Amino acid sequence: MRKNTSIMDFCFFRDAIVSREKACISVASHSLQYASMCFTGIRGYIREGKRWIFRLKDHHERLMNGSKILGFGFYIPYKDFEEIIASVVEANSPKSDFYIRAFLFSEDEVLGVCYENLKFNLGIYIMHLSDYYQRNKGLKLMVSSWEKISDAAIPTKTKVVGSYVNSSLATTDARRSGYDEALLMGNNHNIVEASVANLFIVYRGRVITPPLGEDMLEGITWMTVIELLKEQGYTVHYEAISRSMIYICDELFLTGTAAQVVFAESVDGKMIGNGKEGPITKIVRNQFQNLIEMKHSKSKEYLIELTKKSSA
Ligand code: PMP
Repeated sequence: MRKNTSIMDFCFFRDAIVSREKACISVASHSLQYASMCFTGIRGYIREGKRWIFRLKDHHERLMNGSKILGFGFYIPYKDFEEIIASVVEANSPKSDFYIRAFLFSEDEVLGVCYENLKFNLGIYIMHLSDYYQRNKGLKLMVSSWEKISDAAIPTKTKVVGSYVNSSLATTDARRSGYDEALLMGNNHNIVEASVANLFIVYRGRVITPPLGEDMLEGITWMTVIELLKEQGYTVHYEAISRSMIYICDELFLTGTAAQVVFAESVDGKMIGNGKEGPITKIVRNQFQNLIEMKHSKSKEYLIELTKKSSA
């Protein structure tokens, strides 16, 4: 078994902080057998010895919305969620930037595909995570032949585990073909997002991103970048993006918790702009960096400090 050594020792499982070895589920659990699970991934930053969590309230809201959309019947108030996060982080005492995976899952050993009467629980683990992609290096993207799963089939406004089969197929094909990441077309054949990130392009000087009604996740980094762009005086246009627009746009960048803000060097081997990070992408990336370095005037609006006092 491949074991990820950056995952830290303590997690939240069955309503308690336990060592990772004790957080085991049955081979027959519903979540394992039917992917009946949703999650969110949250960044944590260590700045001057303090622990800062990125948009925790929004992550909590998206996770609870997931439970509502999917009909899991699980709810935890924000304050309790924050306290549990604080205790898991405290138990692990990370010394460098980290990533929190919070998920709703069912251990029930039930044969059959109905969420009614299943018991869902909150699970949390954390791991060290610095940059997901190499900084200052553009991504080589590929338009995937896998179509993005439609919201009419699996909800796209929550990170439902089953839908990551779609993302995994697209990423696997891209990597096996020598690319870094995949872009996916929705069933109307517009490009809606990357496998695990949202998408922006700059086209004839206009910043464009797909409208929320597309089969895309409402990324928390996406929301942040839109706010940062507006603050810098840019109007964000919510419009369909066709494949040919992608090839001739001036800039293309992806946003996501893992990716943060990263530019594309090429798509399907066709260079984007001059293959370097474009001026608007650079502004956004720098603003985002300031935000997470706690150097932006709004850093403390976006990131909350976890103190020992708030530990459960
Ligand atoms: N789309 C998908 C399908 C994703 O998995 C992610 C990663 N969570 C994103 C977009 C970006 O969302 P966020 O900024 O909230 O991480």
